[in-house]
Amino acid sequence: MKEDKQMCFMCGKSVDKVNKLVKGRYGCICDECAEIAMDVLAEEEETPAADIKSVTPSQIKAHLDQYVIGQEDAKRTLAVAVYNHYKRLRQRKRSDVEIQKSNILMIGSTGSGKTYLAQSLAKFLGVPFAIADATTLTQAGYVGDDVEVMLRTLLQNADYDVDAAQRGIIYIDEIDKISRKGENVSITRDVSGEGVQQALLKIIEGTVSEVPVTGSRKNPMGETIKIDTTNILFICGGAFDGLDKIIGGTDKHNSIGFGAHFSVVEETNLSVVEQHDLVRYGLMPELIGRLPIITTLSPLKEEDLVRILTEPKNAITKQYQELLSMDGVKLQFEDDALRKIAELAIKKNTGARGLRSILENAMQKVMFDVPDMEDAKRVVVTADCVVGQADAVVYGAKNKKIA
Ligand code: ADP
Repeated sequence: MKEDKQMCFMCGKSVDKVNKLVKGRYGCICDECAEIAMDVLAEEEETPAADIKSVTPSQIKAHLDQYVIGQEDAKRTLAVAVYNHYKRLRQRKRSDVEIQKSNILMIGSTGSGKTYLAQSLAKFLGVPFAIADATTLTQAGYVGDDVEVMLRTLLQNADYDVDAAQRGIIYIDEIDKISRKGENVSITRDVSGEGVQQALLKIIEGTVSEVPVTGSRKNPMGETIKIDTTNILFICGGAFDGLDKIIGGTDKHNSIGFGAHFSVVEETNLSVVEQHDLVRYGLMPELIGRLPIITTLSPLKEEDLVRILTEPKNAITKQYQELLSMDGVKLQFEDDALRKIAELAIKKNTGARGLRSILENAMQKVMFDVPDMEDAKRVVVTADCVVGQADAVVYGAKNKKIA
């Protein structure tokens, strides 16, 4: 690279005065200015977070639409539930009507976007957020994390602002795995899963917990902080494998009311799940009672996965395009290549979760080689490149193929 006469177009420092100069098609930027730019962008991204008071369900959904493909019913349900939740927190004056907390249960296969939805929601609202894995939780006395650990994570993520943490959101993944007849039980853990359900129930319905915060920056001496969980919104998620068979075997009356407006998915009829199906699955009725909002996510199809690759604001193909544009190179994906990536992800059976590693494999050689190819102007990723049968096609000036 001929960098001797190059300088940062933002601060004007020459290449010998900076640690690193990132070369773009029309100029260069130094590492310091790039970092400042990233901070500014991060701040801008975080700004919309927030005025929970004035945000409406349609605005919440519109935000989720920018990141989450499909899952229309889940997005709408979450938007309304969250809107009502924060409205409930503002209900100051005494009223005879006590609004129940709108904790949510999301049912959907692995990689269908449950965690991502909860995460995108918390980010938009600017509230502290923590993710817990129900399979690592145990009732006190067994090997594993106490349920309080999730509160500690929330508190840490709130930078030890107790008020903020008490209005945060906790996502509990794999809630189905602590069902009484869960498959993943171990002998070192509460075998039935019921003890964990009891412990979770207490926290979800609202209790004051003593959270150990040993060695944190603000509590170097190691102490406990009281956290009231009454106003924390809990979102639980699980794949509930086999639930469709249970639903098939039950009587369809007494639906808890969300069946009617859900579009029925071909592969499964989870959209008509009823509370007693979840009890039969092994969750305690009391726990289900504390998760009054239930929504189902559809398994992602090939065309959804192609959209996920390209459409969201931070879609992974866009991220690679951004990276290569910093080398002055335009990156293109043929439609067949995108379909191939989606097809491979479907075979892996991990929903959208598999997309990144498949794309990373396909892109590894390009990302390694292109920065050394001074003449490269455009790179095209084909389906053959995705399956490792060919390299990406590299074009130079005047559209001349150079590799
Ligand atoms: P789950 O919690 O349902 O197992 P995740 O939400 O963790 O799945 O999804 C894994 C990753 O796949 C997410 O981080 C996100 O990048 C992507 N993803 C999953 N579903 C969607 C979707 N519907 N739209 C956009 N991206 C998605």
